[in-house]
Amino acid sequence: MSIDFEIPAEAKAVRARVRQWVHDECMPAEKRLLAGEDYKTVLNELRGKARSQGLWCPFIPQEYGGMGLGPLANALVQMELGESYLGALSLNTQGPDDATMMTLLEHGTPYQKEKFLKPLLNGEKRICYSMTEKAAGADATGMQTRAERVGNDTYMLNGEKWFSSAASVADIAVVMAKTDPNAPRHQQFSTFIVELPNPGYRIKRDIPTMALEGPLSHILGGGHAEVEIKDLEVPAENLLGGEGNGFNMGQHRLAYGRLRHGMHNVAMAQRALDLATAHITSRSTFGKGLDERQAVQFMLAECASELYIARLMLLHIAYKAERKMDIRQENGIAKVFLANMVHKVVDTAIQLHGALGYSRDTPLAAWYTHIRSQRLVDGPDEVHKWTTGRNVIKAFKSTGTTAGACGGDLL
Ligand SMILES: Cc1cc2nc3c(=O)[nH]c(=O)nc-3n(C[C@H](O)[C@H](O)[C@H](O)COP(=O)(O)OP(=O)(O)OC[C@H]3O[C@@H](n4cnc5c(N)ncnc54)[C@H](O)[C@@H]3O)c2cc1C
Repeated sequence: MSIDFEIPAEAKAVRARVRQWVHDECMPAEKRLLAGEDYKTVLNELRGKARSQGLWCPFIPQEYGGMGLGPLANALVQMELGESYLGALSLNTQGPDDATMMTLLEHGTPYQKEKFLKPLLNGEKRICYSMTEKAAGADATGMQTRAERVGNDTYMLNGEKWFSSAASVADIAVVMAKTDPNAPRHQQFSTFIVELPNPGYRIKRDIPTMALEGPLSHILGGGHAEVEIKDLEVPAENLLGGEGNGFNMGQHRLAYGRLRHGMHNVAMAQRALDLATAHITSRSTFGKGLDERQAVQFMLAECASELYIARLMLLHIAYKAERKMDIRQENGIAKVFLANMVHKVVDTAIQLHGALGYSRDTPLAAWYTHIRSQRLVDGPDEVHKWTTGRNVIKAFKSTGTTAGACGGDLL
C-alpha cells in the first residue's frame, strides 16, 4: 500500500490551530510557572480556555467530549503539543492517562465508563498504570502479583509494582495481576481498576531517577512510584475486560503510548534544533561565525535528516492506521528510531551550545536526562529490535525477500 502525502484540509487546519495554541498559550504559561505562579491555577485556566475553543482530548470520540480526530490528524496535533511540556496536559492528552483512557473506552463496562472514564475525560481525575514489577518488566509475563477471588463480589490482590508513573498524583490505578497461573502464558493476567488512595495500594516512594527535577516535576509527571500491594480488595465490578485479558489489553494500550512518545519527541527535537541553530548563528569562534563552519553545518544536517525520517515514519504509520492496516512492524521500528533520534538531536544541541548546553540555563539539560527513559519505557530497544528482526526473517522465508518487513509496501 503506497502513501498518499496529501494531508486533508481539516487535518491541516487543526494542526495549525494547535500550533498556535502551543505558541500563544502554553509557552507563555510555562513562563508563568517559572515565575512562581500556582500550577493548578495556571493549568485550570489553560484547560478551561482550551476546552472552550474545542481543543480537548484529541483522539477521544466526539460523543465522549473529545475532538474525535483520526490517527493522522491526531499524529499532527501531538507533534505540535510536544513542543511545550504543558501542551499535552492542557488538552488532557498527557501520558500515562491518555492510553489508559483508550483502554477504558474500548473495554470498560457502562458502569466503569460512567464512574471512572467520565471524570478522566473531564480532566477532574488522573489515572496511572501499574504493570511493571521489580520481578518483571520487558517480559511482563513474569509478573508475580496475584489476584484471588474472594466470594462472588471481590478480588484480593497481593504483590508489588514499581515505576508506576504518576501514581502519586493519580485518583485511579489500573493494576495488572495474575488470576490464573495455570492458563496459557498470555492469558494468566487480568486488569483491575483501583480507586486511590487505598490502604491496600501503598506508595512506598517516588523512585529517584536520573531525570533533572524542578519544583513542579512531581506534580507535572507525578514521579514513578514503588508500590506495595497488600490485601488490596477490589470489587469484581472493577475487573476490566474480563479475566485473562489483561496482557493483551496492556499491549493494545502500549501500542498507542509508544507512538505518542515518538510524536512528542519530534516536537522536542525540533525545538532543540531551533535552539542550537539560533545559538550558532549568533556566535563566533576563531574569527568566524559558527554557522560558517562546515563541521557545524554537518551536525545540523544530521539532525535535519533524523527529523525528516521521523516525520515520514509517523506520517506513514498514521496513514496505515487510518486504513486500519497492520502497523505492528512499523510501530516497533519507529518506537526505537524516534527514541534514539531525540537523543541524538538533543545531544547535538547541547554540544553546539558548549558549556551553556551543559548548564541549566537552557531546557536542554533537563530534556537530555528525561529522554534517556525513552529507550526503556514501553519496551526497551532490544526487545523491539528482536521482534523486528524476527519479522524480517519471517518475511524472507515466506516471500523470498525481506522487503515486506522494511517498508516495501510503500512501493
Ligand atoms: C521513566 C519510566 C516510566 C515508566 N512508567 C511505567 C508505568 O507507568 N507503568 C508500568 O507498568 N511500567 C512503567 N515503566 C517500566 C518500563 O515499562 C520497564 O522499565 C521496561 O518494560 C523494561 O523493563 P525492566 O526495567 O524490568 O528491564 P528488564 O526486563 O530487566 O530488561 C533489562 C534490559 O535487558 C535487555 N533485554 C531485555 N529483554 C531482552 C531481549 N529479549 N533481548 C535482548 N535484550 C533484552 C534490555 O536492554 C533491557 O533494557 C517505566 C519505566 C521508566 C524508566
